[in-house]
Amino acid sequence: MTPYPNLLSPLDLGFTTLRNRVLMGSMHTGLEDKAAHFPELAEYYAERARGGVGLIVTGGFAPNKTGWLLPLASKLTTSAEAKQHRQLTAPVHDAGGKIALQVLHAGRYAYHPLSVSASSIKAPINPFRPRGLTGYGVKQQINAFANCAALAREAGYDGVEIMGSEGYLINQFLAERTNRRTDAWGGTPEKRRRFAVEIVKRTRQKVGDDFIIVYRLSMLDLVPGGQSWDDVVALAREVEAAGATIINTGIGWHEARVPTIVTSVPRAAFTWVTGKLKPHVTIPVVTSNRINMPQVAEEALSSGDADLVSMARPFLADPEWIRKAETGREDEINTCIACNQACLDHAFKRKLVSCMVNPRAGHETKLTLLPTRRSKHVAVVGAGPAGLAAATALAERGHSVELFEADDEIGGQFGIARKIPGKEEFAETIRYYRRRLEVTGVKLHLGKRVSAAELTGFDEVVLATGVAPRVPALPGIDHPKVLSYVDVVKHGKPVGERVAVIGAGGIGVDVSEFLTHADSPALDLDAWMTEWGVTDPEHAAGGLGTPKPEPSPRRVYLLQRKKSGIGSGLGKTSGWVHRAALKAKRVEQITGVTYEKIDDAGLHLTVDGAPRLLEVDTVVVCAGQEPVRDLADALPADLPVHLIGGADVAAELDAKRAIDQGTRLAAAL
Ligand code: FAD
Ligand code: NAP
Ligand code: SF4
Repeated sequence: MTPYPNLLSPLDLGFTTLRNRVLMGSMHTGLEDKAAHFPELAEYYAERARGGVGLIVTGGFAPNKTGWLLPLASKLTTSAEAKQHRQLTAPVHDAGGKIALQVLHAGRYAYHPLSVSASSIKAPINPFRPRGLTGYGVKQQINAFANCAALAREAGYDGVEIMGSEGYLINQFLAERTNRRTDAWGGTPEKRRRFAVEIVKRTRQKVGDDFIIVYRLSMLDLVPGGQSWDDVVALAREVEAAGATIINTGIGWHEARVPTIVTSVPRAAFTWVTGKLKPHVTIPVVTSNRINMPQVAEEALSSGDADLVSMARPFLADPEWIRKAETGREDEINTCIACNQACLDHAFKRKLVSCMVNPRAGHETKLTLLPTRRSKHVAVVGAGPAGLAAATALAERGHSVELFEADDEIGGQFGIARKIPGKEEFAETIRYYRRRLEVTGVKLHLGKRVSAAELTGFDEVVLATGVAPRVPALPGIDHPKVLSYVDVVKHGKPVGERVAVIGAGGIGVDVSEFLTHADSPALDLDAWMTEWGVTDPEHAAGGLGTPKPEPSPRRVYLLQRKKSGIGSGLGKTSGWVHRAALKAKRVEQITGVTYEKIDDAGLHLTVDGAPRLLEVDTVVVCAGQEPVRDLADALPADLPVHLIGGADVAAELDAKRAIDQGTRLAAAL
């Protein structure tokens, strides 16, 4: 008996059957844009199909050039292009999977001058003003969607997903916010819905009855001027009548100022919205957003809120997610911790998408962990992200690995990160590695600070000894009111009601979040919805209410010497969430400071040439880190030694680099 009877049960769609209730949601990897990259993309999909995914949805393909996300981005408009796509569909079918092409028209989110929309209204997140479509232009766009779907069928896809959410073109027709037309395509909710409904109708006519049409429907727009709940329900019914096979859930436009997928969003935070819609239609509905583990997915289905779950990033983190759930190995799942650091943040920088906790994602053909021909006895020192990645990958390849950790537990700095409110998911990575050490047979020595003498008998030594907090040279730095972030977050040392945080990098921002949260239950859905103003869409159009953040229990000052904006080095997709959270907690952010001294009165600064005293009880130092690499100098010159993670370079270190470096070293040894 499986603990996931709903999740793993097949879904009969009449003309075809999905092998389970899991849809791999659309994720643009960056490999879609050039057919030259299709062999790599094919292996990426095939690995997920072999892992058991029921229905894979590709990254978005535009139905014409106006719909491109970026100039020369992925599109499917010709039979020649369709032929290339056979490289993608065939391996998925060989692995017993099914695959649908996402048809995505960016509308006013298109980052190029050809962009079009319902009306000529610029998006707040894009410098290009779209051209408002003529009535003839609207019909051309509808035909483009249908033609693209027909080409997808020609290419061997099992279906298409019509992207109607997230604020893209179809969504722009649906909402008054972006549709000011007074012709047959706007002016009333019925007329605004017509574009979406005609697309589904025309597509069904073109592709025939035995082809999956998933319609991704924006259930919560989360922007002012979004659709009312009545509009959403009416659209779902009309889309069903027009021939959709499945309705998928879309939450929030890209320009929404409510986080929808970052790690501080509670798991399955929006499944209730799918559940609210489900009784209004008879076709299967898919729920999505922040579903990352089998029990969360099973609950979403067993509660009756949805018929399928959509997960995208979890399959970057672990292509074998389903196989592991099927075979009772869920404790071996490499969980997506919703950090966005190597997936969405890469996509925004036009870099190839990968995964922080699985650097092989997107590099399946290039980064392989092949069995070694010559097993070596390897010592890995330090069980932070770098050492854990190296040790487990080395052991997977067949090396005999011993891992030494000075602390009583594994995780290194990640063990501190997981204590930050909203970063609780980071504990999953530590859980994953703890189990992975057992599965791969790494010999773990906890509470063992090794000396150079103890390492001389090994064939290879990997130093992953990480970083130590930097102590700035500042008069009064040894004052009793000064603490490091390790003292505060890891050791729970008491902090006063007025606090200055020195350093506003990732850790300074995180520590400020830590200090401005009382002991409220983390990741509590009701509390989170209240904090961000997410509400029942029957009460407010688009589900957008008034945010009511809990007041901070402390007065916090967050300081940096640079003049640049605080948190400017954080990821594109999470930095704004941190900045908004700190603002809501009234953290005073001061840039361009010179630190003068710390004494009984507080922290003395100069800001814009003027002296200022912050009368604080505690000063928390988050001024970056220095590498810990004393062992490197003490080891004999003839012993092969490899430095990785913070021990290698502390500047701009993050877990993404640490894990990547550890994995790549292990692949090469
Ligand atoms: P470390 O994590 O420092 O691990 C080194 C390990 O080596 C330690 O466990 C140490 O005890 C051990 N060690 C040292 N010397 C010896 C010895 N002689 N013998 C045995 N063991 C030894 N990164 C991100 O990418 N995203 C985030 O959101 C993020 N948030 C963070 C939030 C906070 C509050 C903190 C503190 C860090 C955060 N980081 C984040 C940074 C991330 O945790 C580090 O970049 C990462 O842990 C570095 O990995 P590492 O393995 O190189 O070193
Ligand atoms: P960091 O990002 O390098 O920030 C260090 C801060 O300390 C800066 O604000 C710097 O700004 C200040 N500083 C540096 N030297 C100083 C000195 N001598 N005296 C006073 N201030 C000094 O490092 P971090 O915050 O320690 O974070 C470490 C790594 O963890 C980062 O690289 C980051 O990528 C990662 N991390 C990521 C996240 C995330 O959400 N993605 C979260 C946490 C951590 P000024 O020099 O301008 O004062
Ligand atoms: Fe998930 Fe982070 Fe990996 Fe993206 S990079 S898939 S958010 S763990």
